[in-house]
Amino acid sequence: MADTVIIICEKPDAMDHIAMALAHGALRKRTSRYGIAFYEFLRDGKKHIAVSAVGHLFNLKQKRRGEHPIFDAEWVPSYKASKKAVFSQRYFKTLEDVAKSFDGDLVSACDYDNEGSLIAEKIIKLIFNKEDAGRMKFSTLTKQDLVSAYENMAKHLDTNNINAGETRHYLDWIYGINTSRALMESIKKSSKRFAILSAGRVQAPTLVILADREQEIKNFVPVPYWQLQLTILSNGSEIIAIYEEDKIWEKTKASKILEECKGNPAIVDSMTVENYRQYPPTPFNITSLQTEAYRLFGLSPQQTMSIAQSLYTQAYISYPRTSSERLPPQIGYRQILEALSKIKTYETLCKTLLSMKYLKPNDGKLTDSAHEAIHPTVEPPSDVKKLKGLEQKIYDLICRRYFATFAGPAERETINVVFDVNGRKFLAAGRRTVEKGWMSFYGPYAKIDDVFLPNLKKGDSLDVKDLEMLDKETAPPSRFSQASIIKEMEKRGLGTRATRSGILQTLYDRDYITGRSIEVTGLGVKMSSVIKKYVPDFADEKLTRKFEEELEKIVEGEGNKTEIINEAKDAVKKITDEFDQNQEVIGRELGEAVVKTQDDKSILGKCKCGKDLKIMFSPKTRKYFVGCTGYKEGCKAIYPLPHGASIYKTGKVCDKCGTPIIKVYRGGRRPFSMCLDTKCVTKADWGKPRRTKLAHPGND
Ligand SMILES: [Zn+2]
Ligand SMILES: [Zn+2]
Repeated sequence: MADTVIIICEKPDAMDHIAMALAHGALRKRTSRYGIAFYEFLRDGKKHIAVSAVGHLFNLKQKRRGEHPIFDAEWVPSYKASKKAVFSQRYFKTLEDVAKSFDGDLVSACDYDNEGSLIAEKIIKLIFNKEDAGRMKFSTLTKQDLVSAYENMAKHLDTNNINAGETRHYLDWIYGINTSRALMESIKKSSKRFAILSAGRVQAPTLVILADREQEIKNFVPVPYWQLQLTILSNGSEIIAIYEEDKIWEKTKASKILEECKGNPAIVDSMTVENYRQYPPTPFNITSLQTEAYRLFGLSPQQTMSIAQSLYTQAYISYPRTSSERLPPQIGYRQILEALSKIKTYETLCKTLLSMKYLKPNDGKLTDSAHEAIHPTVEPPSDVKKLKGLEQKIYDLICRRYFATFAGPAERETINVVFDVNGRKFLAAGRRTVEKGWMSFYGPYAKIDDVFLPNLKKGDSLDVKDLEMLDKETAPPSRFSQASIIKEMEKRGLGTRATRSGILQTLYDRDYITGRSIEVTGLGVKMSSVIKKYVPDFADEKLTRKFEEELEKIVEGEGNKTEIINEAKDAVKKITDEFDQNQEVIGRELGEAVVKTQDDKSILGKCKCGKDLKIMFSPKTRKYFVGCTGYKEGCKAIYPLPHGASIYKTGKVCDKCGTPIIKVYRGGRRPFSMCLDTKCVTKADWGKPRRTKLAHPGND
């Protein structure tokens, strides 16, 4: 038995909480190597070290060249595999140092899921050269949960999670590398262009769903119809009623009914009141949280995910990447309410719930093998107002949802009135909340769509203020929003709770889709049709869903890793063959769309001479720069671009110097916006030209 315990954490913030929770007042020493901190502390007289990864430190890489299709992969340090991961090198070296300096029992304290388990396992095997470790399992980063996770840790690594994670990575990798290679080859052959094209295992079928909807919208032919709308007066208030046949397809018919009704009063023919109960919402899982945050605040699923992740690493909420809609009693319903009652705005709500004899959440159907539904923890922020703007909103939403799920149903009533106008029937509906129930806990987030109707009784004769014939037309199917496509993916079993929002982001990054209300670009439509036509196996939703189900089985300890991998290899082999056979025609069909997209992206805006400013490449300096397309006509406008960064056009123009504003992304740092002119007054306070600065606050 070694005398040291080395705890491996997933991220620095999590490490802070873990060290603080386990050190229980004993001396904590914060050491720093390569600028990366780790902790040493005593617990029960034993030396403990908490050290952190920064997400994945290892990636899959092609093992040998010339293989086709490519199946042979090895795990290599991420910083060696990708420029974007260079920042992870210092964490890697710190872990290497700890491995060299201390000998001890290892413990994995990464997030309890496929990814977290895999992150720890690779570090344990490839940096510490050990086979096994203890495993802490927790759903929140609160002191009580972490201490309990430590005291009750499993003696061995969670092999099922690791296997599922490893298999998923491998599947995604062989799909990704082979299909993107095939796509790029075909473009290079047909149009001599280099383009980063990809369409992953889940990406492809998702794109097809979106493009099919786009096609439906484009092909939609609206059909005109007419609607008769009656405005009735009752004691000064207006009631709107619609003719019982709400779509009248012939104008002559609508006019005839209109004529018949004109000048007649509206007589109440019947009035029915129905009471019903509206039950409280179920606890949040990641999809319902993303859907609500989109509905209420317009946040993209990806944004919601990262805000929730941040609240989790601050120990304010439980682990968010969960599909569970259930809250087990072990989380301590009352204890959480007591903790939250210390926050002024929640005090009354919490006390009302605490005074109830039984607390029972309105659990939903969905479960999750590793985590419960999302809930606030017993360690709320000392001052909610100190949270960042969006964090404040999401935290409030999560707290109120938690309260609402314990509250009673809302009592509501609907009132349906039928009016008779010279023998023709018009309908009006009203809605009223009798008892707010859970809605008062959910507060501003509850949809109270009450429609007022005055008290009426059968036989009442009312004055008609207006009778109109409205020209209308049928509407095309609506576009997907980011929230509704994620819901659709969940319904169809595409991707996982943890990966869906990232997949959607990739579709945006690749220029296949655009806009908040998702529009598929020319390139996206082409990509989808090419895949469907020539590589049908790639677009196959059923296959993707099957793999997803089998990966889930591995988590449950039932699936067979080798079998799934062989199946996936067969599928990739078939897809690669389809690509090979159709390489030329795919290149031809996609090429045009690629060229157009690239040109659209590289033209940043207008030059003062009226021509386009375009990103160009100088073979002499081997650098990208911005030049004017009017150079042949003598325009000398030329601007440098920041090195080693990704540049995006914003379509905006600097109001000081008039040059286009670009957005600059550099790995691991905050993106910023700047105009092209290096001498512009907005850059007057730039200490060094390479320093990251927000030159155009508000243009972000
Ligand atoms: Zn010019
Ligand atoms: Zn400027």
